[in-house]
Amino acid sequence: MPGVAQVVKRAFKYRFYPTPGQAEELARTFGCVRLVYNKALEERTRTYRLEGRRVSSTESSAMLTGWKRGGEFGFLSEVSCVPLRQALRHLLENQVIAVEDLAVRNVVRNRSPARAVSDASWRELPSMLEYKAAWYGRTLVVVDRWFPSSRVCSVCGALREAMPLEVREWVCACGVVHDRDVNAARNVLAAGLAES
Ligand SMILES: [Zn+2]
Repeated sequence: MPGVAQVVKRAFKYRFYPTPGQAEELARTFGCVRLVYNKALEERTRTYRLEGRRVSSTESSAMLTGWKRGGEFGFLSEVSCVPLRQALRHLLENQVIAVEDLAVRNVVRNRSPARAVSDASWRELPSMLEYKAAWYGRTLVVVDRWFPSSRVCSVCGALREAMPLEVREWVCACGVVHDRDVNAARNVLAAGLAES
């Protein structure tokens, strides 16, 4: 297409054949990553249930340092610290649930599958999410209902002026083909992660 700039994302896959020594080192590292992830998750859940508060990332890092210092989990200091810190970061990201603060009444009025949306359980969804998120120590971020999640390209950030409800799929000027709902969900999650 002349005159249209396109962004192309490329991914490369590499196959890597470790020596027996490297394979053992990797297996140890993966084991330690799992252990750190599970222990940190357990700690977060426990703190939330007992004290009703969230464990900060600084606290999680301090916990990791404590475990590495010696005792039962001293072996954690024998593997690279980078993947262990990454496990903590992923834990935090996985802890965030982002939802859009949609006015249910408006959705019911405007959308054609009104019957499904007006179902009573749908109205209950926000409060149920809030309750469940609190119970499991997750962070629930409610993104402002005026955030234009459907009109922003989640790849290049371009904002479209209008996005009528009947448009289910669209092509951005950057060349990416979007499913309306998947694109909106990506934008809501990105906004939620930025706020959390
Ligand atoms: Zn785009």
